[in-house]
Amino acid sequence: MKAHDGMYIDGAWRPAAGRDVIEVVNPADEQIIGTVPAGTAADVDAAVRAARAALPAWAATAPAERAARLSALRDVLVARKDEIAETVTAELGAPLAFSQTVHAGVPIAVAASYAELAATYSFEEKAGNSTVLLEPVGVVAAITPWNYPLHQIVAKAAPALAAGCTVVLKPAEDTPLTAQLFAEAVHEAGIPAGVFNLVTGLGPVAGQALAEHPDVDLVSFTGSTAVGKRIGATAGGAVKKVALELGGKSANVILPSADLAKAVNVGVANVMSNSGQTCSAWTRMLVHRDQYDEAVGLAAAAAAKYGDRIGPVVNAKQRDRVRGYIDKGVAEGARLVAGGPESPREQGCFVSPTVFADVTEDMTIAQEEIFGPVLSILRYDDEDDALRIANGTVYGLAGAVWAGDEAEAVAFARRLETGQVDINGGRFNPLAPFGGYKQSGVGRELGTHGLSEYLQTKSLQF
Ligand code: NAD
Repeated sequence: MKAHDGMYIDGAWRPAAGRDVIEVVNPADEQIIGTVPAGTAADVDAAVRAARAALPAWAATAPAERAARLSALRDVLVARKDEIAETVTAELGAPLAFSQTVHAGVPIAVAASYAELAATYSFEEKAGNSTVLLEPVGVVAAITPWNYPLHQIVAKAAPALAAGCTVVLKPAEDTPLTAQLFAEAVHEAGIPAGVFNLVTGLGPVAGQALAEHPDVDLVSFTGSTAVGKRIGATAGGAVKKVALELGGKSANVILPSADLAKAVNVGVANVMSNSGQTCSAWTRMLVHRDQYDEAVGLAAAAAAKYGDRIGPVVNAKQRDRVRGYIDKGVAEGARLVAGGPESPREQGCFVSPTVFADVTEDMTIAQEEIFGPVLSILRYDDEDDALRIANGTVYGLAGAVWAGDEAEAVAFARRLETGQVDINGGRFNPLAPFGGYKQSGVGRELGTHGLSEYLQTKSLQF
């Protein structure tokens, strides 16, 4: 795999300040596929300076010009989509077909949506005797996870650039090659030097230096709730804007009137996709007691069909962590109906698609985010009971409701404490705001709501 041995700062690949490197490993066979520099506070400082210097000119460009650059960026991503998919497959382990449709396809759709929004969004509003100017927040620190490597980057960089902000990206250490490819795409798209900068490195070193940098105006973080809390506290201490997209433990509520087989099959596919490493995955399936046994049978059969088709999880540590949760589920009395803690292959970071029945709300596997291909099926007595269980975690990122008719599902969805709900299997929409209630986060990504995270208001009174 192609890897740069420098940082992309001020429009060029520059040598890192230190000599440390990060080895990038393919989790499918645990072979090293490349190395990238492990950035330090000095690299972060150079990148933030470049972003600060580029800010006035970029913030002053006409929105139509920013739209044109984002449109060019989208075109480069389209032209390089096979390379993107191969890179994500190599460093994340996702099956190639999934990398092509989702890991490459979704960021292209999101980049396109912001190219259009930059051209059509009104950066000025009227409010009584005032004109309200919507101005860029400034220098953005973007810190991203590995689970959807390019999507997480584009979901921050595209709206930030559309708003007129400049960006320093610190991507996850497991997937830096996709981030380097994105920096190349930014360059090819003719985005001016310093507007987008990339520093690869470890979270507690480069990530922390970036989150703490005094010349950053907004920290946009996606990752674990534990790190998000620290970043929120640091930003709060500096009175700095912050957006946090954190963990989830979403419920898939199947009401008695639903098409049970469809709801269960789509639900299992949702959890197994990307090897369960999706923050919004519906990892708790809630089924009425009268349909419970049938649903468990359907889910076990659906999971068993995945067999070898599922990709590995991102690394050996994650594999061991997920298997630890499976052991805990068994120890706490849940009933394994598919999969289990044993590794399905001799080599690679694989976890069997796993389904637990007889899961109760108090169990660890019903409360904590596992981030692996593990589904828990819980039983409810009536709608109020289902609602109480669905809302009974610290998270509130996403969810699903299935019912015989949409109105019934929507009525239930209104009572859910969560940022997104798919009704009867509704499709992903790159314009719909994404983000969490409760400890799933602060702020929203995608669409106009995602754009407004990067804007601040100035009111002129007449
Ligand atoms: P993580 O929190 O370990 O790392 C995320 C990023 O933060 C990485 O770039 C990492 O290097 C960096 N980081 C780590 N420590 C840091 C520190 N002290 N200061 C600054 N930066 C630091 O999370 P992860 O394991 O990469 O990703 C998985 C988590 O992300 C899961 O909890 C998942 O739910 C969450 N996630 C949330 C969303 C969402 O939109 N809500 C999307 C995807 C993933």
